[in-house]
Amino acid sequence: MTASHQILLYYLYAPIADPEGFAEAQRELCGRLGLLGRIIVASEGINGTLSGEAGAAAEYMAAMREDPRFAGIVFKTDPAEAHAFPRLSVKVRPELVTLGLTGAEDVDPRSLTGERLSPRAFLEAMSDPGAVVLDGRNRYEWELGRFKGAVCPDVDHFRDLPKWLAENLEGAKERRILTYCTGGIRCEKLSGLLVKEGFKSVAQLDGGIVSYGKDPEVRGRDFEGRCYVFDERVAVPVNSANPTVVSRCRRCGGPSERYVNCALRRCNAQIFLCAACESGAGRYCDDGCRHADDPAYLERLPHGEGFRFVDALLKLEPGNWGVASYRVTGREPFLPGHFPGDPIVPGVVLAEAVAQLAGVVAQSDPEVPPVEQLLLAGLGRVKISGAARPGDTLRIEAKVTGRMGGLVQADGSVEIDGVRLCSATVSLGGAR
Ligand SMILES: [Zn+2]
Ligand SMILES: [Zn+2]
Repeated sequence: MTASHQILLYYLYAPIADPEGFAEAQRELCGRLGLLGRIIVASEGINGTLSGEAGAAAEYMAAMREDPRFAGIVFKTDPAEAHAFPRLSVKVRPELVTLGLTGAEDVDPRSLTGERLSPRAFLEAMSDPGAVVLDGRNRYEWELGRFKGAVCPDVDHFRDLPKWLAENLEGAKERRILTYCTGGIRCEKLSGLLVKEGFKSVAQLDGGIVSYGKDPEVRGRDFEGRCYVFDERVAVPVNSANPTVVSRCRRCGGPSERYVNCALRRCNAQIFLCAACESGAGRYCDDGCRHADDPAYLERLPHGEGFRFVDALLKLEPGNWGVASYRVTGREPFLPGHFPGDPIVPGVVLAEAVAQLAGVVAQSDPEVPPVEQLLLAGLGRVKISGAARPGDTLRIEAKVTGRMGGLVQADGSVEIDGVRLCSATVSLGGAR
């Protein structure tokens, strides 16, 4: 069977004098060939992943190799039945991979990088018990699969890695370090950085996990789980020699390689969830997301348009705790008059948002019948430390701390992008 499409993964560190012009030429070339995917262009080279019809992919590879700057480029190819990307994006960036190193800190992989090991040599090197196998990827990647016994840095971004290494790998400078990543590009910089930092013996898996899985001799041996990829496939198999599953179902903790997105659209987190858990409790991270996806809870808010400061629930533990968002539109009736020229949301409105969410949380309690017209009745310990403006999205949190009849007590806070603007203790009261 021959597949109609191909997926390409490639990079090359090679100086590009005019990144903007080169990016434009790439857009034209890909557009003409009907290729989709993502390309990063920098003055230090190119990094790309594309999908397209097999003939078009072949034409692209030929066109790139014709350019003397990219004659040595290596393309990793996978057959596919269709495109793996929804669109084409070609961007110019200061770095091919964002390590955040500037000036003298930066590493040029063409002059400083770890020893390149073939899949075969990497497999052999891993058998040395003194070696440190270092995963150069992010948590969401290695959670899906990694080399047996690898050290996996707890980072969400590649740029956080230098700090993690300084804090956690300092004592391993005399040991052999074996780095790996998806296709090899991150290791070019990472291994160079380690050499620069004084690690005595640094090597990298040439071509990354992808090449390691395709190597006819090693066939992905000792890679546990699957490889995370940045296209619609999400997870690809690597190991056909001694495959295992390492990822765990978010709910029951059993082995599962089912990678899905949380059904709560505003969460959309990628999670492992086994089929049994999904059919039992829905395709959600947890019950907090499941309850937050039920519009009935918000509908019980008595507040009308213009005085409602909870748009959407993000997490809800009925009767106990909740998180919600509110986007300041600038059209709120109280805004323009308050501070002409610089409309800010008054602190009391932030406390009101906490109270409204507290009301939603309290009213969702399955054990307690709903209260009519549950409204803010009192404020205590209010701390305001910032202002919100039109365009901001508030993150509101509230925890019910006490209930008695039609009275509700709650603690809560409001944040924007992780910065706290307000905390408050609120009391609500309504008719029983
Ligand atoms: Zn499960
Ligand atoms: Zn979720």
